[in-house]
Amino acid sequence: MAIRGVNAFDVAQAQFDKVAAMLDLDPATRELLRQPMREYSFAVPVRMDDGAVRIFRGFRVQHNDARGPAKGGIRFHPQETLDTVRALAMWMTWKCAVVDIPLGGGKGGVICDPHHLSEREQEGICRGWVRQLARNVGPVSDVPAPDVMTSGKHMLWMLDEFEAIHGGHYPGFITGKPVGAGGSQGRTEATGYGVVYTIREALKQLGLRPDQTRASVQGFGNVAQYAIRLYREIGGTVTCVSSWDNEAQQAVSFRKGEGIDPDELVGVTDRFGGIDQAKARDLGYEILPGDAWLEQPVEILIPSALENQLDGDNAPRVKPTVKLIAEGANGPTTPDADKVFAERGILLIPDFLANAGGVTCSYYEQVQSNMNMYWPKDEVLGRLDLTMTAAYHAVAELAQRRKLALRDAAYVISISRVAQACHERGWV
Ligand code: GLU
Repeated sequence: MAIRGVNAFDVAQAQFDKVAAMLDLDPATRELLRQPMREYSFAVPVRMDDGAVRIFRGFRVQHNDARGPAKGGIRFHPQETLDTVRALAMWMTWKCAVVDIPLGGGKGGVICDPHHLSEREQEGICRGWVRQLARNVGPVSDVPAPDVMTSGKHMLWMLDEFEAIHGGHYPGFITGKPVGAGGSQGRTEATGYGVVYTIREALKQLGLRPDQTRASVQGFGNVAQYAIRLYREIGGTVTCVSSWDNEAQQAVSFRKGEGIDPDELVGVTDRFGGIDQAKARDLGYEILPGDAWLEQPVEILIPSALENQLDGDNAPRVKPTVKLIAEGANGPTTPDADKVFAERGILLIPDFLANAGGVTCSYYEQVQSNMNMYWPKDEVLGRLDLTMTAAYHAVAELAQRRKLALRDAAYVISISRVAQACHERGWV
């Protein structure tokens, strides 16, 4: 999606080029890593409920698999583009490397709007996507997962189609499966919880206790909901949350000074996290414009919706109270906004570190699936906390030592690890 006129792949390449120059990376490695190794763009024909056949456009990009099979979600979105999927695949490579799991980076997408598709039509898209790619993805080559507007049920349809084609059980083909159908305990919570594990560590660094902080959150999907829950559990207060109003085709912010209650809001939400305005007003929420979430007098901003949400135009509107930004979404901050935040001394935990909890738990799920033995939730979340905390401190320590922004420090670690794997394999 070229949301707000910014091409996410340009952003991903600009971020990479900056750090590649800093690392003095050789030209061949730079050329290899600044673009995907493989990409697929294909038609997905689906018979719709009215009997007509519609052709959807599907994508899968495998950015780099030097450290292990490509890994990353599949998004359903009406404004999906190949360039966005390229950017997201590249960010997956850095994400898996920064938490040091043995996986590469990939991402997939379908141009479609699930708000206007029945369950049967969505199943048709999932099965059609797998039919086109069944020979190019799999447990040892490329492992998909849920992402924007996809969930466990989509993963299971995809798994079922893959297993029908290959004739056997391959639970390691896909992650984010429902618990009881090959899924891992904790996977649903993992991305949002991971964001909060990094927030907790960053607050220690800033000398702030969570109960001295307030947060404003963009989005109310899976990542946002679980980030809000754990942040409240550690003592924080969320005063504002925004969500997409599908009827009005615009975002809306919901504010409650004493703190929002996610359980209450989930009760007035559609299946994609869109909050019903009238019902929220009855619950005492103030209804504000879509971008009001970014100009709240809070200490923490958690953009957890889509890419390019904080840009050079709106970043100056962020209040001086803000000390920390944790990117729950992939690519929510443009390089122009990054500059504004750096000048103001705001600590920003970059997406591929902050939201790496999802793929880390996906990795645990793949391990459990391949062993056909499943761990209790406490064990999964305990391991997740250790991994996220260690990754945060490795990045923060390098940032301090080399006087870098956390994003650049995270890139230094990830690019070095991936480049090393490419060299050791003799690719460059
Ligand atoms: N879609 C998630 C992400 O962007 C998770 C990917 C995965 O679990 O493979 O990190």
